[in-house]
Amino acid sequence: MNNKIDCLQCGMILSREMSHCPKCDDLLDQQTDGHVVTVDIAHDRETVRVAITKLNKTLDEVNRDRGAGARFIVGSGRIREAIGAELATYLYRKEILSFEFEGNNQGAILVMLRKH
Ligand SMILES: [Zn+2]
Repeated sequence: MNNKIDCLQCGMILSREMSHCPKCDDLLDQQTDGHVVTVDIAHDRETVRVAITKLNKTLDEVNRDRGAGARFIVGSGRIREAIGAELATYLYRKEILSFEFEGNNQGAILVMLRKH
């Protein structure tokens, strides 16, 4: 594991444990490079449990990689309902900024972790 990150504001190399950049004082865990990953968690015969595990793992990775968010392809069945409930819990714990079923494609949910 790489324990160093670079400050996206000023480029200084820092330890991952730091919350503020000592050089430019930016909040490191709110920085994002803006990327949004897309993960299909419903079309490989996943059970609800497996789909939720994939969601948890993806959000952990996006958070660590300083992504802006993730788009989950959830289909239209039980997985979609379970993921909606799981994300409501994330939102309640303030671990995500927002989530929404995408307007023109009800089989996808866009989750935002950071403002970009
Ligand atoms: Zn900095």
